[in-house]
Amino acid sequence: MFLTITTTGTPERPATDLGFLLHKHPEKAQAFSTSYGTAHVFYPEASAERCTAALLLEVDPVALVRRRHGGKGRGGAPDAALAQYVNDRPYAASSLLAVGMSRVFASALKGQCAARPELVERPLPLRVEVPSLPARGGADLVRALFEPLGWTVGAAPVALDERFPEWGESRYVTLTLTGGHTVADALRHLYVLLPVLDDAKHYWVAPDEVDKLLRSGEGWLATHPEQKLITSRYLSRRWGLTRDALERLELLRLAEADDTDVEEIDNAVDETEDTEERPVPLAELRRGAITAALTAAGAHRVLDLGCGQGQLVQALLKDARFTEVVGVDVSVRALTVAARRLRLERMGERQAARVKLLQGSLAYTDKRLKGYDAAVLSEVIEHLDLPRLPALEYAVFGAARPGTVLVTTPNVEYNVRWESLPAGHARHGDHRFEWTRAEFRAWADAVAGRYGYTVSYAAVGTDDPEVGPPTQMAVFTVAAQPPTDSAPKEEQAA
Ligand code: SAH
Repeated sequence: MFLTITTTGTPERPATDLGFLLHKHPEKAQAFSTSYGTAHVFYPEASAERCTAALLLEVDPVALVRRRHGGKGRGGAPDAALAQYVNDRPYAASSLLAVGMSRVFASALKGQCAARPELVERPLPLRVEVPSLPARGGADLVRALFEPLGWTVGAAPVALDERFPEWGESRYVTLTLTGGHTVADALRHLYVLLPVLDDAKHYWVAPDEVDKLLRSGEGWLATHPEQKLITSRYLSRRWGLTRDALERLELLRLAEADDTDVEEIDNAVDETEDTEERPVPLAELRRGAITAALTAAGAHRVLDLGCGQGQLVQALLKDARFTEVVGVDVSVRALTVAARRLRLERMGERQAARVKLLQGSLAYTDKRLKGYDAAVLSEVIEHLDLPRLPALEYAVFGAARPGTVLVTTPNVEYNVRWESLPAGHARHGDHRFEWTRAEFRAWADAVAGRYGYTVSYAAVGTDDPEVGPPTQMAVFTVAAQPPTDSAPKEEQAA
């Protein structure tokens, strides 16, 4: 099986730089033994204008069979005796080629290049050719996998037998990819997607495969439209591992979309939740609790203050009871992600009339926020510096003054229950503070008193007998006109 990578050069940037990136000298032919045979690396051409590196894997079918029957083999269905020796493995690019790549190009895959570190980040004009690629799913799937990554894809089906065109096409394609990528990214794409297209992994998939997949998928898999298919096939359709990988990818995607605003722990599962079914992530529990509280309050027009990436806005829009939902956030990036999530641009007129996304800071009064039934501050207050909090209190409770205000925030006492959280750490790098139940109540009682609201409290997630629930919620209901001197000093001075 065979794979070539070609790049072209310019006077300032010779094509032979490829040799540095692959850690393989263009003038040498090298051989590496792998557990399946021998991997050869050589350069059919190496000039300043054009340089091609070739990886040829000579598979030893007998070693393959022996290994398969060894401790790590897949076992299970006994292969037909002949198929053990006569199969496509020596010729077709597949998971074996990926294993060969990881052995031969280990540093390149990691994006390491001690000799010329400045080269690593630079995208090069690349052309990858794989003459014989088994592609379950055909040329269409090949395109669906590589095109979203920015490759121009050629995937020509290979005839079963050129002498007999009536026999039709084989499941092999000749693959050519062209595009501007760093060498490390190109290798990572191939390392994951070749075995995905082959869809017949030759070794038992161990849990550390999830880590390998996420490492190689870094920067591209979390946003790939075929993420599910890739993950499930890569992990040989083992559902437990696939789900684990997909959950971790979702966290990565959110983190990549806006790494300062994502509540990582939110998607952590409340382990203490005593259910047989898939445990519900805390963020989902919180949206459920908020929706229930809004419904109980009879709210129809709702503000989501500090809406982040719009998950709650999206959930509320699914409920016809909420006739207007306004998401407000200070982060343009978060709002951009929210708009994409909601498909604002493709929304029908009637649906679009129900939703608005506004950029603004909650530390300033804002006329646009007056007159709503309810406002939600879900996991927002802890993102403000404590001295700014009175300004938010005034802007929300004093100026916007909705009938109901829901505030959720982490209960710091619960942090000892998060297995992944080192002792003494906040749940998110951007949290300026996290409160105990007593601290939260002291704050909320004071705010309610100052602005003429009554307040009650609710638990979100399992209410642990010792440390309380992971998320605490205060429900404020407007009771009276606020005292006239309620504006904070800072705000009056401004
Ligand atoms: N409500 C969402 C997001 C919480 S993350 C949820 O429950 O998942 C906190 C959000 O508050 C971030 O999106 C951040 O941009 C926003 N935020 C922080 N300070 C803000 C401010 N002063 N004004 C408006 N939004 C703010």
